Amino acid sequence: MTFESGLYVVATPIGNLADISHRAIELLKAAEIVAVEDSRVTGKLLHHLGIKKKMRRYNDHSGGVERDSLVAAARGGVVALVSDAGTPLISDPGYKLVRAARDAGVPVFTIPGASAVTAALSICGLPTDRFLFAGFLPNKAKARVETLMELGQIKATLVFYEAGPRLAASLAAIADTYGDREVAVARELTKKFEEVVTGTAAELAARYAEQEPKGEIVLIIGPPADDVATETGDVDAALKEALETMSAAKAAGAIAKRFGLERNAVYARATELKAQ
Ligand code: SAM
Repeated sequence: MTFESGLYVVATPIGNLADISHRAIELLKAAEIVAVEDSRVTGKLLHHLGIKKKMRRYNDHSGGVERDSLVAAARGGVVALVSDAGTPLISDPGYKLVRAARDAGVPVFTIPGASAVTAALSICGLPTDRFLFAGFLPNKAKARVETLMELGQIKATLVFYEAGPRLAASLAAIADTYGDREVAVARELTKKFEEVVTGTAAELAARYAEQEPKGEIVLIIGPPADDVATETGDVDAALKEALETMSAAKAAGAIAKRFGLERNAVYARATELKAQ
């Protein structure tokens, strides 16, 4: 295989080391530089593949000098960008480098492969015709509810990356905000303990509060039922109207009752709207 000069964004496995494409292996062999998130992680993969290669640490906090140097190298040679697992740029470094290369007129190529988003979606049994991937939910409870309120109006399956210690709290917030929307927890994909657990957010919140899950997780929320989506879309308008004559607490109570929503989530949104 021959490769022309440029920046190659290379997907690597998300667990099972056999999930790397033939072209990715050939490209890594051909690369003059492999830009990596963590040289220990990628070093293991390269060792497994029997490839000895110069690695250069790169992430989006790297300075412009490092970025320019990689772009310059890609102008006259083959530069690979990989992250610790899956597809670079998907909740991983690389955006600024790709942008800089494109702005400089240096060709950027994809060597596609695994990503936890698509792997989870493809087996979770929830609708996949329209989905929105939103990275990690915020850590803080208030910001998390606000994000959920904002995304709740979208008629699509929602996909998040999640961590075991936060999963039960996130599921509880989802139950509070969205009620009975179907949820799937996809865990340890392509690894020994791969599993997909489905249910309502409340059911799964109780399950994972009892036993914190180990390993890596993708959290998927099915789309809102048509009528619910329309109503959720109207919540902001109704809240704004109610806030003209009521306190945030009273408005939240009234609107939560009217739309069948959890009062705390509506109250969080009411205080936000009031502050605006
Ligand atoms: N760029 C990667 C990709 O394309 O999937 C994602 C990187 S992001 C920093 C890491 C997160 O992806 C993990 O915290 C987890 O939520 C999810 N993830 C990665 N590998 C996974 C796996 N094997 N099973 C389930 N989720 C996984």
